[in-house]
Amino acid sequence: MGLFGGRRTVFVDADILVIGGGMAGCGATYESRYWGRDLKIVCVEKANIERSGAVAQGLYAINCYMGMQWGENQPEDHVRYARNDLMGLVREDLGYDIARHVDSTVHKFEEWGLPIMRDPKTGRYQREGKWQIMIHGESYKPIVAEAARKAATEVCNRIMVTHLLMDAKKANRVAGAVGFNVRTGDFHVFRAKAVIVCAGGASHIFKPRSVGEGMGRTWYAPWSSASAYALPIQVGAKMTQMENRIVLTRFKDGYGPVGAYFLHLKTYTENGYGEEYEKRWYEDTKALVGDYIDRHPVPTCLRNHAILREVAAGRGPIRMVTREAFQDPHKETVGWENFLGMTIGQAVVWASQNIDPKHINPELTTSEPYVMGSHATCSGAWASGPEDYAPEEYQWGYNRMMTVEGLFGAGDTIGGTAHKFSSGSFTEGRIAGKAAVKYVKDMKNGQPQVSEQEYRHLENLIYQPLENYRIGRNEIVAGTVSPSYLLPIHGLQRLEKIMDEYVGGISTNYMTNGVLLERGLELLAMLKEDMSNMGAEDLHSLQRTWELHHRLLASESVTQHTLFREETRWPGYYYRGDHMKLDDENWHCFTLSRYDRNTGKWEMEKAPVYHIVD
Ligand SMILES: Cc1cc2nc3c(=O)[nH]c(=O)nc-3n(C[C@H](O)[C@H](O)[C@H](O)COP(=O)(O)OP(=O)(O)OC[C@H]3O[C@@H](n4cnc5c(N)ncnc54)[C@H](O)[C@@H]3O)c2cc1C
Repeated sequence: MGLFGGRRTVFVDADILVIGGGMAGCGATYESRYWGRDLKIVCVEKANIERSGAVAQGLYAINCYMGMQWGENQPEDHVRYARNDLMGLVREDLGYDIARHVDSTVHKFEEWGLPIMRDPKTGRYQREGKWQIMIHGESYKPIVAEAARKAATEVCNRIMVTHLLMDAKKANRVAGAVGFNVRTGDFHVFRAKAVIVCAGGASHIFKPRSVGEGMGRTWYAPWSSASAYALPIQVGAKMTQMENRIVLTRFKDGYGPVGAYFLHLKTYTENGYGEEYEKRWYEDTKALVGDYIDRHPVPTCLRNHAILREVAAGRGPIRMVTREAFQDPHKETVGWENFLGMTIGQAVVWASQNIDPKHINPELTTSEPYVMGSHATCSGAWASGPEDYAPEEYQWGYNRMMTVEGLFGAGDTIGGTAHKFSSGSFTEGRIAGKAAVKYVKDMKNGQPQVSEQEYRHLENLIYQPLENYRIGRNEIVAGTVSPSYLLPIHGLQRLEKIMDEYVGGISTNYMTNGVLLERGLELLAMLKEDMSNMGAEDLHSLQRTWELHHRLLASESVTQHTLFREETRWPGYYYRGDHMKLDDENWHCFTLSRYDRNTGKWEMEKAPVYHIVD
């Protein structure tokens, strides 16, 4: 296809449209087929589901497995664990729902060919920690994708979804989605009765530590571009806990994971002078968060907090003591293999920096913040809970349906449910898929209708950056800076700088306050204005442009939520300098937002946290 002419419009009809074929999307596709044998189930993915999403490179551990068959843990235990780690604020109904089903998901993975390590003595899965089991997981994603591929009526790879479509007949009901093929440029209109958003989390919202030639290196996948949030936000779905960005302690420069090192190799950390430092910050942390510091395990954010304080006191860097463990050849092998299966870049970084962990204790650092819903964090859409378990106030429709009718979500998309990880995300996809099938079947003939006017309007909007570039390019003879358009990389760097400096990124040591946040919102609004002048030189840049749109809207949401919550709930993730303490009296609640795309205004409110499990 020529870029500027002869573009085809491809129509795809589906009963259930799954957006994003990562862990949750594969789960949703698989389970939708199980309950909806005669339904048309379509999965649309901007990459190729074979190797897409955060698990693309493989994993070394499945981080959410109860082990109920051996009486190891019960779902209630997991709810308590997640609640503790998130400083009291999780949707216990949703978390319980995942925990009670996650083991069956893992058993399916094994049945489909995923090699799970077993303890030779007990025959049980090899544990790395209380919740993790170890896998030979380089091919984790292709194995899971195969199940989804076989279940789907159609998988549409290489199509970036840019907008959801709303029903022309009924307000607040979803009717499909539009997007474009990143290879051919074709415009795609998906007409669907139910839509399940499973588009992953968000990296590159805040300026990363690795910039310049290293900027592609982030902890969360660089292609996780906030579509999971922007798509529902655009159509007015309520979001929750968007302020709860996550900061990870990882090996410096390669973001290599530390979990297996702590849990399996029994390594530990020390400051630059070889001293233990966590205890030193006990009283300081207690003054900020009270008894939460005495919980076990110590919440993830508070462990970051001790590192940040110690480094700020001039006693960095923090190092992982590997020299002792690596004398054991078995542990040395495990240490390296841990990277080879999922973060090979860390091994390369160490090689390039002359770091042999057998002889040198490698540095750790805290990452830039990410927005996601499946790790030690729970940003995302506000979803209806399970019929048999959710309090009344959390139930307005089908399980995992957002506040927009027919719009479901799973994985990083759904808020309030931390610690689901890969297996829990797939499980939540299954839960959403089952509920979406019920929704479609209950609908009978009253199916939604898309408006041609709406999708043609969106078509013009989507491709406009190609036109902007074609015309504006004539005004310059060399270089990339044009008086009439902004390239996606420029827009991205501007966004990251705003978020970094005003919303609590690395350059302010994760510190922000009301004044900074208000100014950040003004600067984001100016960037938003400039977005109509984006220039895209090809389809690749067009994709980057729409990813930037999604990141920008999600960033606005993060900033609004951070401004609304007037306390520091998660020291170590971010600090409100004007409200430095955790304030359970006023803020033991969820924050909710709703965006009005017609006015550009955000409505904020509080929602109660129900503690269902003792
Ligand atoms: C470095 C790292 C280490 C991790 N380690 C572990 C671990 O050891 N164990 C564990 O269990 N979990 C781990 N996780 C967590 C796990 O990967 C996530 O919890 C899980 O992948 C989330 O599932 P998801 O489906 O929500 O997102 P993803 O799996 O990321 O899937 C999202 C999908 O949506 C697609 N997409 C995005 N936008 C669009 C769009 N606009 N249009 C079409 N498609 C789109 C993406 O291409 C992607 O395929 C790790 C994650 C990372 C990044």
